[in-house]
Amino acid sequence: MNFDQLSLDPRLVAATKTAGYTEPTPIQEQAIPLVLEGRDVLGLAQTGTGKTAAFMLPILNRLMKGKLGKPRALIVAPTRELAEQIHQATMQLGSQTRLRSTAIYGGVSKFNQVKVLRRGVEIIVATPGRLLDHMGDGNIDLSGVEVLVLDEADHMFDMGFLPDVRRILRALPDERQNLLFSATMPQEIRSLADGVLRDPAHVQIGTSAPVETVSHALYPVTESLKSDLLLSMLHQTPTHRVLIFTRTKRRARDLAEKLERHGHNVTALQGNMAQAARQKAITGFKNGEYKILVATDIAARGIDVTGISHVINYDMPDTVDAYTHRIGRTGRAEALGEAVTFAVQDDEPMVRDVERVLGKP
Ligand code: AMP
Repeated sequence: MNFDQLSLDPRLVAATKTAGYTEPTPIQEQAIPLVLEGRDVLGLAQTGTGKTAAFMLPILNRLMKGKLGKPRALIVAPTRELAEQIHQATMQLGSQTRLRSTAIYGGVSKFNQVKVLRRGVEIIVATPGRLLDHMGDGNIDLSGVEVLVLDEADHMFDMGFLPDVRRILRALPDERQNLLFSATMPQEIRSLADGVLRDPAHVQIGTSAPVETVSHALYPVTESLKSDLLLSMLHQTPTHRVLIFTRTKRRARDLAEKLERHGHNVTALQGNMAQAARQKAITGFKNGEYKILVATDIAARGIDVTGISHVINYDMPDTVDAYTHRIGRTGRAEALGEAVTFAVQDDEPMVRDVERVLGKP
C-alpha cells in the first residue's frame, strides 16, 4: 500500500513524500479512509504509530475543499509540547495547501496568539486551559468547527482536563465529525467517547504494550549505585540520542548537572522550567546540540524526537502506561530502540506488571 492509493489530494501525497514517509503506517491505512468518509473514529493507538498524520491528512483533505478564514478543525491535546508538535506536523503536511494552522497553549504570551487568530486560521491545535481562556476573552469563534480531534484523551483525563474538555465541547456546533485517540481506555475515556462520538468506527493498533521494535533490559541496582551504573553505561555503550527519565523534577535537574560535570552534552526538561527554556531543551536535543535529555514524565509527554537510541528509566515509572509512554519515545515509526530500566528492590511489583504486559520476563 502507498499514499497514492488512499484517495488523498495529490498535494497531500506530495507532502508525505517530502516528509520522508514512504508508505502509510498501519493506523494510517486503517484510519485515513474512515476519516475521509466523514465517520467518527475511536482510535486506540499508542504514540509513535503515525497517528498524527492518520487524522491530519484526511482533515486537510476535507478543509481544502471549503472556505478559508474561520477555524474549521479543532485539535485538543493535553500538553504544550504535543500541541506544538501536531501544529508542526500540520504545517508540514499542509505546506502545499492554503490552510493555516496555529498552536494555542499556556506559558507564553496571549498577545501573539490573538494576532494570529485575528489574521485567520482554519486549524487550531490547543491545550484546554488556554483555549478556554481565549474563548472567554472572545478571541476565538468556534461556530464554524466541522471536525474535532481529542488526542491522547487518557492523558487529558490523568491531568484533570476532562471538565475543561466538556466545556469546550459545549461551545462547538452539534453537527461535526469527531475523532478521539487514546493509548488506553479507562472507564472515564469510554464515557467521554460515548458522549462525543456518533456511531464511531474503531481503529486499534496493537494493545497498550510498548512497540515491538524496542528491546527491554532490566538492571537490578541499589539507589546509591544508580548514577555510577548510568555513567559507566553511557561510557561503554555506543548511543545516539539518550532520553533519561527520573521520578521528580529535582532528580532530573540534579542528574543532568551530574552528567554535565562528567563531560556529557546534556540538558534537563522538567515542569518547573519556563516554556522558552523547555522549548530550548527540546530543540537542542532534536538538533543534536545535546545528546542526552533528562526528563520527568509530564515534561516529556508527547515530545517527538527521532533517532533516540536509548530510553533509560533511571527511576521506575509508576504505572505500566507510563512505561509504555516513555518507551514509545524510542523505536518510533519502526526504528530500533533500546529500553533500559534501573530497578531497586521496591520496584519489584512494577517490574512484574511490565513483564505481564510485555508477555515475557
Ligand atoms: P506520531 O505517532 O504521529 O507521533 O508519529 C511518530 C513519528 O512517525 C513522527 O516522527 C512522524 O513524522 C513519523 N511518521 C508518521 N507517519 C509516517 C510514515 N508513514 N512513514 C514514516 N514515518 C512516519
